[in-house]
Amino acid sequence: MPAIEELTDAYERYVLNNEDGFVDEFRRRIRDFGGRPTPLQRADRLSERYDTEVYLKREDLLHGGAHKLNNALGQVLLAKYMGKERIIAETGAGQHGTATAMAAAHLGMPCEVYMGERDINRQRPNVFRMKINGSEVTPVTTGRGTLKEAISETMRDWATNVEDTHYVIGSVVGPHPFPRMVRDFQAIIGEEAREQIRERTGALPDSVVACAGGGSNTMGAFHEFVGDESVDLLAVEAGGSSLAVDTDEGVAPNSASLSTGSEGVLHGARTKLLQDLDGQIVESHSVSSGLDYAGVGPELAYLVDEGRVTPVTVDDDAAVEGFHRLSQEEGIIPALETAHAFGYLHEHHDEVGDVTVINVSGRGDKDLDTAIEETAKRDVPNAPDMSMFEGGL
Ligand SMILES: *Cc1c(COP(=O)(O)O)cnc(C)c1O
Repeated sequence: MPAIEELTDAYERYVLNNEDGFVDEFRRRIRDFGGRPTPLQRADRLSERYDTEVYLKREDLLHGGAHKLNNALGQVLLAKYMGKERIIAETGAGQHGTATAMAAAHLGMPCEVYMGERDINRQRPNVFRMKINGSEVTPVTTGRGTLKEAISETMRDWATNVEDTHYVIGSVVGPHPFPRMVRDFQAIIGEEAREQIRERTGALPDSVVACAGGGSNTMGAFHEFVGDESVDLLAVEAGGSSLAVDTDEGVAPNSASLSTGSEGVLHGARTKLLQDLDGQIVESHSVSSGLDYAGVGPELAYLVDEGRVTPVTVDDDAAVEGFHRLSQEEGIIPALETAHAFGYLHEHHDEVGDVTVINVSGRGDKDLDTAIEETAKRDVPNAPDMSMFEGGL
Protein backbone atom coordinates (compact mmCIF):
# COMPACT_ATOMS: atom_id res chain seq x y z
CA MET A 1 0.00 0.00 0.00
CA PRO A 2 2.71 2.64 0.72
CA ALA A 3 4.13 2.11 -2.78
CA ILE A 4 0.70 2.44 -4.36
CA GLU A 5 -0.22 5.50 -2.31
CA GLU A 6 3.02 7.27 -3.18
CA LEU A 7 2.51 6.49 -6.87
CA THR A 8 -1.11 7.69 -6.80
CA ASP A 9 0.03 10.98 -5.32
CA ALA A 10 2.75 11.40 -7.97
CA TYR A 11 0.33 10.44 -10.78
CA GLU A 12 -2.11 13.13 -9.65
CA ARG A 13 0.54 15.80 -9.29
CA TYR A 14 2.62 15.22 -12.43
CA VAL A 15 0.36 13.44 -14.95
CA LEU A 16 -3.02 15.00 -14.10
CA ASN A 17 -1.85 18.45 -12.96
CA ASN A 18 1.32 18.85 -15.09
CA GLU A 19 3.38 19.82 -12.05
CA ASP A 20 6.95 20.92 -12.95
CA GLY A 21 5.93 20.70 -16.63
CA PHE A 22 5.88 16.88 -16.63
CA VAL A 23 3.29 16.55 -19.39
CA ASP A 24 5.13 19.07 -21.60
CA GLU A 25 8.37 17.12 -21.24
CA PHE A 26 6.59 13.82 -21.97
CA ARG A 27 5.01 15.26 -25.13
CA ARG A 28 8.36 16.65 -26.29
CA ARG A 29 10.22 13.37 -25.71
CA ILE A 30 7.58 11.10 -27.24
CA ARG A 31 7.75 13.38 -30.31
CA ASP A 32 11.55 13.68 -30.67
CA PHE A 33 12.63 10.27 -29.33
CA GLY A 34 9.49 8.31 -30.17
CA GLY A 35 8.52 9.81 -33.52
CA ARG A 36 5.00 11.06 -32.75
CA PRO A 37 2.58 11.86 -34.15
CA THR A 38 2.24 8.55 -35.99
CA PRO A 39 0.43 8.76 -39.34
CA LEU A 40 -3.20 7.89 -39.99
CA GLN A 41 -3.06 6.17 -43.37
CA ARG A 42 -5.91 5.21 -45.69
CA ALA A 43 -5.54 1.54 -46.62
CA ASP A 44 -6.40 1.85 -50.31
CA ARG A 45 -6.49 -1.81 -51.28
CA LEU A 46 -8.32 -3.03 -48.18
CA SER A 47 -10.85 -0.19 -48.58
CA GLU A 48 -11.54 -1.37 -52.11
CA ARG A 49 -11.68 -5.06 -51.15
CA TYR A 50 -14.18 -4.52 -48.32
CA ASP A 51 -16.05 -1.55 -49.83
CA THR A 52 -15.43 0.34 -46.59
CA GLU A 53 -13.12 3.26 -45.84
CA VAL A 54 -10.32 1.62 -43.83
CA TYR A 55 -7.86 3.90 -42.02
CA LEU A 56 -4.76 2.61 -40.25
CA LYS A 57 -3.35 4.27 -37.12
CA ARG A 58 0.32 3.44 -37.61
CA GLU A 59 1.65 2.70 -34.09
CA ASP A 60 3.98 0.22 -35.80
CA LEU A 61 5.96 3.29 -36.87
CA LEU A 62 6.58 4.44 -33.29
CA HIS A 63 10.18 3.91 -32.08
CA GLY A 64 10.59 0.30 -31.03
CA GLY A 65 7.94 -0.87 -33.49
CA ALA A 66 4.85 -0.84 -31.26
CA HIS A 67 2.67 1.36 -29.06
CA LYS A 68 4.49 0.19 -25.91
CA LEU A 69 6.96 3.09 -25.81
CA ASN A 70 4.13 5.58 -25.05
CA ASN A 71 3.68 3.96 -21.66
CA ALA A 72 7.28 2.96 -20.95
CA LEU A 73 8.63 6.45 -21.64
CA GLY A 74 5.83 8.06 -19.61
CA GLN A 75 6.48 5.90 -16.58
CA VAL A 76 10.30 6.08 -16.64
CA LEU A 77 10.01 9.87 -16.90
CA LEU A 78 7.54 9.89 -14.01
CA ALA A 79 10.00 7.82 -11.93
CA LYS A 80 12.61 10.51 -12.59
CA TYR A 81 10.24 13.27 -11.43
CA MET A 82 9.55 11.18 -8.30
CA GLY A 83 13.29 11.07 -7.55
CA LYS A 84 13.54 7.30 -8.02
CA GLU A 85 16.91 5.87 -8.95
CA ARG A 86 16.03 2.43 -10.27
CA ILE A 87 13.51 1.02 -12.75
CA ILE A 88 12.08 -2.49 -12.66
CA ALA A 89 9.67 -4.09 -15.11
CA GLU A 90 8.22 -7.45 -16.02
CA THR A 91 7.97 -8.80 -19.51
CA GLY A 92 6.37 -11.79 -21.23
CA ALA A 93 7.42 -11.86 -24.87
CA GLY A 94 10.01 -9.19 -24.16
CA GLN A 95 8.30 -6.32 -25.98
CA HIS A 96 7.48 -4.29 -22.87
CA GLY A 97 10.89 -5.09 -21.37
CA THR A 98 12.54 -3.83 -24.53
CA ALA A 99 10.49 -0.61 -24.59
CA THR A 100 11.31 -0.01 -20.90
CA ALA A 101 15.01 -0.73 -21.48
CA MET A 102 15.06 1.81 -24.33
CA ALA A 103 13.27 4.44 -22.25
CA ALA A 104 15.62 3.80 -19.29
CA ALA A 105 18.71 4.12 -21.50
CA HIS A 106 17.28 7.31 -23.04
CA LEU A 107 16.76 8.86 -19.61
CA GLY A 108 19.89 7.41 -18.00
CA MET A 109 18.22 5.16 -15.42
CA PRO A 110 19.41 1.69 -14.37
CA CYS A 111 16.82 -0.96 -15.21
CA GLU A 112 16.16 -4.57 -14.21
CA VAL A 113 13.62 -6.67 -16.12
CA TYR A 114 12.03 -9.83 -14.67
CA MET A 115 11.26 -12.46 -17.24
CA GLY A 116 10.05 -16.05 -16.95
CA GLU A 117 12.80 -18.58 -17.67
CA ARG A 118 10.67 -20.25 -20.33
CA ASP A 119 10.07 -16.91 -22.03
CA ILE A 120 13.81 -16.09 -21.92
CA ASN A 121 14.51 -19.23 -23.93
CA ARG A 122 11.70 -18.47 -26.39
CA GLN A 123 12.52 -14.78 -26.92
CA ARG A 124 16.29 -14.52 -27.21
CA PRO A 125 16.43 -11.52 -29.61
CA ASN A 126 14.48 -9.40 -27.11
CA VAL A 127 16.69 -10.51 -24.22
CA PHE A 128 19.66 -9.33 -26.28
CA ARG A 129 17.93 -6.03 -27.10
CA MET A 130 17.34 -5.32 -23.40
CA LYS A 131 20.95 -6.16 -22.58
CA ILE A 132 22.47 -3.94 -25.27
CA ASN A 133 20.34 -1.11 -23.92
CA GLY A 134 22.11 -1.68 -20.60
CA SER A 135 19.32 -3.44 -18.69
CA GLU A 136 19.69 -6.48 -16.49
CA VAL A 137 17.42 -9.43 -17.28
CA THR A 138 16.53 -11.58 -14.26
CA PRO A 139 15.06 -15.06 -14.87
CA VAL A 140 11.94 -16.06 -12.89
CA THR A 141 11.79 -19.80 -12.27
CA THR A 142 8.62 -20.13 -10.17
CA GLY A 143 5.41 -21.63 -11.62
CA ARG A 144 5.39 -22.01 -15.39
CA GLY A 145 8.12 -19.42 -15.76
CA THR A 146 5.99 -17.02 -17.81
CA LEU A 147 4.41 -13.56 -17.56
CA LYS A 148 2.09 -14.14 -14.60
CA GLU A 149 5.00 -15.25 -12.37
CA ALA A 150 7.20 -12.41 -13.68
CA ILE A 151 4.54 -9.86 -12.63
CA SER A 152 4.31 -11.38 -9.12
CA GLU A 153 8.11 -11.31 -8.75
CA THR A 154 8.33 -7.68 -9.89
CA MET A 155 5.61 -6.66 -7.41
CA ARG A 156 7.61 -8.37 -4.66
CA ASP A 157 10.77 -6.44 -5.59
CA TRP A 158 8.79 -3.17 -5.72
CA ALA A 159 7.22 -3.71 -2.30
CA THR A 160 10.71 -4.35 -0.84
CA ASN A 161 12.58 -1.51 -2.58
CA VAL A 162 9.89 1.13 -3.01
CA GLU A 163 12.06 3.93 -1.61
CA ASP A 164 14.34 4.10 -4.62
CA THR A 165 12.50 1.95 -7.18
CA HIS A 166 9.62 2.44 -9.65
CA TYR A 167 7.79 -0.51 -11.23
CA VAL A 168 6.91 0.16 -14.86
CA ILE A 169 3.90 -2.10 -15.44
CA GLY A 170 3.36 -3.16 -19.07
CA SER A 171 -0.36 -2.74 -19.69
CA VAL A 172 -3.58 -1.27 -18.26
CA VAL A 173 -3.54 -3.90 -15.51
CA GLY A 174 -2.54 -4.15 -11.84
CA PRO A 175 -3.71 -2.01 -8.89
CA HIS A 176 -4.86 1.61 -9.22
CA PRO A 177 -3.36 3.96 -10.37
CA PHE A 178 -1.69 1.73 -12.99
CA PRO A 179 -4.71 0.96 -15.24
CA ARG A 180 -5.72 4.60 -15.41
CA MET A 181 -2.18 5.97 -15.67
CA VAL A 182 -1.15 3.58 -18.46
CA ARG A 183 -4.37 4.46 -20.28
CA ASP A 184 -3.52 8.16 -19.99
CA PHE A 185 -0.07 7.62 -21.52
CA GLN A 186 -1.56 5.52 -24.34
CA ALA A 187 -4.53 7.86 -24.93
CA ILE A 188 -2.32 9.90 -27.24
CA ILE A 189 -3.13 7.24 -29.90
CA GLY A 190 -6.85 8.05 -29.92
CA GLU A 191 -6.30 11.80 -29.45
CA GLU A 192 -4.24 11.94 -32.60
CA ALA A 193 -6.48 9.52 -34.51
CA ARG A 194 -9.65 11.50 -33.68
CA GLU A 195 -8.11 14.73 -34.93
CA GLN A 196 -6.56 13.07 -38.00
CA ILE A 197 -9.76 11.33 -39.14
CA ARG A 198 -11.80 14.52 -38.74
CA GLU A 199 -9.23 16.42 -40.77
CA ARG A 200 -9.36 13.75 -43.46
CA THR A 201 -13.08 12.98 -43.65
CA GLY A 202 -14.71 15.84 -41.78
CA ALA A 203 -16.42 13.41 -39.41
CA LEU A 204 -15.89 10.78 -36.75
CA PRO A 205 -15.42 7.16 -37.86
CA ASP A 206 -18.21 4.59 -37.49
CA SER A 207 -15.91 2.27 -35.58
CA VAL A 208 -12.48 1.91 -33.98
CA VAL A 209 -10.92 -1.55 -33.93
CA ALA A 210 -7.97 -2.69 -31.78
CA CYS A 211 -6.59 -6.02 -30.56
CA ALA A 212 -6.78 -6.65 -26.82
CA GLY A 213 -4.31 -8.54 -24.64
CA GLY A 214 -3.96 -6.61 -21.39
CA GLY A 215 -5.74 -3.86 -23.27
CA SER A 216 -3.32 -0.91 -23.37
CA ASN A 217 -3.40 -0.25 -27.11
CA THR A 218 -7.15 -0.84 -26.97
CA MET A 219 -7.77 1.66 -24.17
CA GLY A 220 -5.29 4.05 -25.81
CA ALA A 221 -7.17 3.93 -29.11
CA PHE A 222 -10.66 3.98 -27.51
CA HIS A 223 -10.39 6.47 -24.63
CA GLU A 224 -10.86 9.64 -26.66
CA PHE A 225 -13.92 8.10 -28.39
CA VAL A 226 -15.74 6.73 -25.33
CA GLY A 227 -17.99 9.80 -25.17
CA ASP A 228 -18.85 9.59 -28.89
CA GLU A 229 -21.83 7.25 -28.77
CA SER A 230 -21.98 6.96 -32.58
CA VAL A 231 -18.53 5.33 -32.69
CA ASP A 232 -18.51 1.55 -32.18
CA LEU A 233 -15.53 0.35 -30.16
CA LEU A 234 -14.47 -3.19 -31.05
CA ALA A 235 -11.91 -5.06 -28.92
CA VAL A 236 -10.50 -8.07 -30.77
CA GLU A 237 -9.37 -10.86 -28.48
CA ALA A 238 -7.31 -13.94 -29.25
CA GLY A 239 -9.71 -16.82 -29.84
CA GLY A 240 -6.76 -19.23 -30.00
CA SER A 241 -7.69 -22.69 -31.22
CA SER A 242 -11.08 -22.82 -29.45
CA LEU A 243 -13.28 -20.71 -27.17
CA ALA A 244 -13.96 -23.65 -24.85
CA VAL A 245 -12.42 -23.27 -21.38
CA ASP A 246 -11.68 -26.56 -19.62
CA THR A 247 -12.15 -25.53 -16.00
CA ASP A 248 -11.40 -29.09 -14.78
CA GLU A 249 -8.04 -29.31 -16.52
CA GLY A 250 -7.16 -25.68 -15.79
CA VAL A 251 -6.45 -24.79 -19.44
CA ALA A 252 -8.01 -22.34 -21.88
CA PRO A 253 -7.02 -22.75 -25.55
CA ASN A 254 -7.58 -19.00 -26.00
CA SER A 255 -6.79 -15.65 -24.32
CA ALA A 256 -10.28 -14.17 -24.61
CA SER A 257 -10.91 -13.05 -21.02
CA LEU A 258 -13.51 -10.42 -22.03
CA SER A 259 -15.49 -12.94 -24.08
CA THR A 260 -15.08 -16.14 -22.08
CA GLY A 261 -13.75 -15.10 -18.65
CA SER A 262 -15.47 -14.50 -15.33
CA GLU A 263 -15.02 -11.94 -12.59
CA GLY A 264 -12.12 -12.31 -10.17
CA VAL A 265 -9.13 -10.57 -8.62
CA LEU A 266 -5.61 -10.82 -10.06
CA HIS A 267 -2.56 -8.65 -9.37
CA GLY A 268 -4.55 -6.06 -7.45
CA ALA A 269 -7.53 -5.54 -9.75
CA ARG A 270 -11.05 -6.93 -10.04
CA THR A 271 -11.61 -7.77 -13.68
CA LYS A 272 -12.49 -10.57 -16.11
CA LEU A 273 -10.20 -13.58 -15.87
CA LEU A 274 -9.70 -17.03 -17.27
CA GLN A 275 -10.04 -19.13 -14.14
CA ASP A 276 -11.17 -22.53 -12.96
CA LEU A 277 -14.09 -23.21 -10.60
CA ASP A 278 -11.79 -22.70 -7.58
CA GLY A 279 -10.68 -19.30 -8.86
CA GLN A 280 -7.25 -20.52 -9.91
CA ILE A 281 -5.87 -18.78 -13.02
CA VAL A 282 -5.79 -21.16 -15.97
CA GLU A 283 -3.15 -21.44 -18.65
CA SER A 284 -4.08 -19.29 -21.67
CA HIS A 285 -3.07 -19.70 -25.29
CA SER A 286 -2.58 -17.59 -28.43
CA VAL A 287 -0.29 -17.65 -31.50
CA SER A 288 0.70 -14.16 -30.44
CA SER A 289 2.64 -14.02 -27.19
CA GLY A 290 1.57 -10.42 -26.55
CA LEU A 291 -2.08 -11.44 -26.25
CA ASP A 292 -1.36 -14.59 -24.25
CA TYR A 293 -2.52 -13.40 -20.79
CA ALA A 294 -5.35 -14.72 -18.59
CA GLY A 295 -6.49 -11.25 -17.45
CA VAL A 296 -7.45 -7.92 -19.00
CA GLY A 297 -7.52 -4.32 -17.84
CA PRO A 298 -10.34 -3.60 -15.36
CA GLU A 299 -11.58 -0.48 -17.18
CA LEU A 300 -11.91 -2.40 -20.43
CA ALA A 301 -13.85 -5.13 -18.60
CA TYR A 302 -16.08 -2.39 -17.14
CA LEU A 303 -16.73 -0.80 -20.54
CA VAL A 304 -17.73 -4.22 -21.85
CA ASP A 305 -20.16 -4.70 -18.95
CA GLU A 306 -21.59 -1.24 -19.64
CA GLY A 307 -22.14 -2.18 -23.27
CA ARG A 308 -19.85 0.60 -24.54
CA VAL A 309 -17.13 -1.74 -25.88
CA THR A 310 -17.96 -4.87 -27.89
CA PRO A 311 -15.58 -7.79 -27.42
CA VAL A 312 -15.07 -10.06 -30.43
CA THR A 313 -12.71 -12.97 -31.04
CA VAL A 314 -10.50 -14.09 -33.90
CA ASP A 315 -8.88 -17.51 -33.86
CA ASP A 316 -5.24 -18.41 -34.55
CA ASP A 317 -5.94 -19.43 -38.18
CA ALA A 318 -7.66 -16.16 -39.06
CA ALA A 319 -4.89 -14.17 -37.35
CA VAL A 320 -2.19 -15.90 -39.40
CA GLU A 321 -4.21 -15.23 -42.56
CA GLY A 322 -4.59 -11.59 -41.48
CA PHE A 323 -0.80 -11.39 -41.04
CA HIS A 324 -0.23 -12.47 -44.66
CA ARG A 325 -3.08 -10.37 -46.06
CA LEU A 326 -1.93 -7.03 -44.62
CA SER A 327 1.61 -7.81 -45.77
CA GLN A 328 0.51 -8.66 -49.32
CA GLU A 329 -2.16 -6.04 -49.85
CA GLU A 330 -0.75 -3.04 -48.01
CA GLY A 331 3.00 -3.69 -47.71
CA ILE A 332 2.75 -3.61 -43.91
CA ILE A 333 3.96 -6.66 -41.96
CA PRO A 334 1.92 -6.51 -38.74
CA ALA A 335 2.69 -8.04 -35.34
CA LEU A 336 0.72 -11.25 -34.81
CA GLU A 337 -1.22 -9.42 -32.08
CA THR A 338 -2.22 -6.72 -34.57
CA ALA A 339 -3.04 -9.36 -37.20
CA HIS A 340 -6.08 -10.33 -35.09
CA ALA A 341 -7.67 -6.96 -35.86
CA PHE A 342 -7.27 -7.63 -39.58
CA GLY A 343 -8.64 -11.15 -39.17
CA TYR A 344 -11.71 -9.50 -37.68
CA LEU A 345 -12.00 -6.97 -40.49
CA HIS A 346 -11.88 -9.78 -43.05
CA GLU A 347 -14.55 -11.89 -41.37
CA HIS A 348 -16.85 -9.05 -40.28
CA HIS A 349 -16.27 -6.10 -42.62
CA ASP A 350 -20.04 -5.64 -42.84
CA GLU A 351 -20.05 -4.78 -39.10
CA VAL A 352 -17.53 -1.92 -39.00
CA GLY A 353 -19.66 0.71 -40.79
CA ASP A 354 -18.64 2.95 -43.71
CA VAL A 355 -15.49 4.37 -42.09
CA THR A 356 -13.30 2.43 -39.66
CA VAL A 357 -10.01 3.17 -37.90
CA ILE A 358 -7.87 0.13 -37.12
CA ASN A 359 -5.02 0.47 -34.66
CA VAL A 360 -1.88 -1.11 -36.10
CA SER A 361 -0.42 -1.74 -32.64
CA GLY A 362 2.95 -3.01 -33.86
CA ARG A 363 5.10 -4.31 -36.68
CA GLY A 364 5.80 -7.97 -37.32
CA ASP A 365 9.60 -8.13 -37.52
CA LYS A 366 9.69 -9.69 -34.04
CA ASP A 367 7.32 -12.44 -35.20
CA LEU A 368 9.01 -13.67 -38.39
CA ASP A 369 10.21 -16.97 -36.87
CA THR A 370 6.81 -17.63 -35.28
CA ALA A 371 5.07 -16.71 -38.53
CA ILE A 372 7.13 -19.32 -40.43
CA GLU A 373 6.34 -21.97 -37.82
CA GLU A 374 2.64 -21.14 -37.55
CA THR A 375 2.19 -20.87 -41.32
CA ALA A 376 3.94 -24.22 -41.90
CA LYS A 377 1.74 -26.12 -39.46
CA ARG A 378 -1.64 -25.07 -40.87
CA ASP A 379 -3.24 -24.67 -44.25
CA VAL A 380 -3.03 -20.93 -44.92
CA PRO A 381 -4.75 -20.24 -48.25
CA ASN A 382 -3.12 -16.86 -48.81
CA ALA A 383 0.47 -17.74 -47.71
CA PRO A 384 3.38 -17.69 -50.16
CA ASP A 385 5.36 -20.87 -50.87
CA MET A 386 7.17 -21.43 -47.57
CA SER A 387 9.29 -24.45 -48.56
CA MET A 388 12.63 -22.62 -48.58
CA PHE A 389 12.09 -21.52 -44.94
CA GLU A 390 11.26 -24.92 -43.48
CA GLY A 391 14.12 -24.74 -40.96
CA GLY A 392 13.27 -21.18 -39.90
CA LEU A 393 15.21 -18.05 -40.85
C1 LIG B 1 2.14 -6.11 -26.25
C2 LIG B 1 1.41 -5.93 -27.51
C3 LIG B 1 0.01 -6.04 -27.58
C4 LIG B 1 -0.84 -6.42 -26.39
O1 LIG B 1 -0.78 -5.55 -25.32
P1 LIG B 1 -1.99 -4.58 -24.97
O2 LIG B 1 -1.70 -4.10 -23.60
O3 LIG B 1 -3.24 -5.42 -25.02
O4 LIG B 1 -2.01 -3.52 -25.99
C5 LIG B 1 -0.62 -5.80 -28.78
N1 LIG B 1 0.08 -5.50 -29.90
C6 LIG B 1 1.42 -5.40 -29.89
C7 LIG B 1 2.13 -5.07 -31.15
C8 LIG B 1 2.13 -5.61 -28.70
O5 LIG B 1 3.47 -5.52 -28.70
